Amino acid sequence: MQQFNGFIGWLSPEVQMLLLKEMTLSDLMTFAKTREENKEGVKDYMMKRREKLFRTFVNDVDGLIEIMDITGTVISGSSALSLVQAETEAVNAKDLDVYTTEGFEDDVVKHFKEKENYIGVQNIVRQQQYDSSAITKIIKLEKRGKKVDIIVTHWSCAIAPIIQFHTTCVMNYITSRSLVCLYPCWTCANEGFINPLLYVDGKTTLYTVDALMKYTRRGFKLTADPWRLGDHDCEDEATGEEKSGYCPHKLRSTIDDEVLCWRYAPTQTLAGTTISCESIGIMAWYLGGFQCREGDKEETMSLLFVSP
Ligand SMILES: [Zn+2]
Repeated sequence: MQQFNGFIGWLSPEVQMLLLKEMTLSDLMTFAKTREENKEGVKDYMMKRREKLFRTFVNDVDGLIEIMDITGTVISGSSALSLVQAETEAVNAKDLDVYTTEGFEDDVVKHFKEKENYIGVQNIVRQQQYDSSAITKIIKLEKRGKKVDIIVTHWSCAIAPIIQFHTTCVMNYITSRSLVCLYPCWTCANEGFINPLLYVDGKTTLYTVDALMKYTRRGFKLTADPWRLGDHDCEDEATGEEKSGYCPHKLRSTIDDEVLCWRYAPTQTLAGTTISCESIGIMAWYLGGFQCREGDKEETMSLLFVSP
């Protein structure tokens, strides 16, 4: 009986489903490793949850996944966050935030308008000369009360604006083949670190305050002090010790070991080597901000794009 946790198959399907619904992405991925049958159960559950989410907004789920795959488009915001959280506690995904690059903007908008009958309600164009935001334009679409925002970046990688989000709790995204959480330890514990970019560069606006309030109302503990979210390794270069991925001064990337990535489709292999990068490219970043621990130098956020 010691291995009971690995034998969920002994329980009735209804009870199995109740247990899965209580698990965060992190729990589900750990659980999937316990036994081959559990892995299959989690795979099936993950696939059905994504299907249910997408079906709220589109009639043709496969068509959406296909256009995401062809164009390197990703989905973020509350939709992606809801899939990272346990289903019983997940935020309600009220709209679909679709992130794409300038080169594919027309294809993605055309897909929603012509294949899914959405209509354009507003285009918001950013004034690039006054704003360091990676967002170039937001195209707002609607269909019978359902809202889709197409967020366009001039960067060569659709996820660039996601790393500029106000807190780490929304640094999650769904690609055509995977679900990615950049700060799983914090996000799965309903915690979030406020992006230092907001106060270092004085970018706090009423809009960002409102966005932050929205997450605290949903039960998130948000703070601008990383130490309030638990200890992390924060050694300076003198000791030669590695900083943890939860130190804001650590260089992070979308494919490093801290990232939680669930793959929906089988991983492709080329001559036996696992291909870990997808067509959307790889981003690297520092959250930065003010001094983290005594002796640690001050840094501000910078973004770096590394081509696939
Ligand atoms: Zn630190």
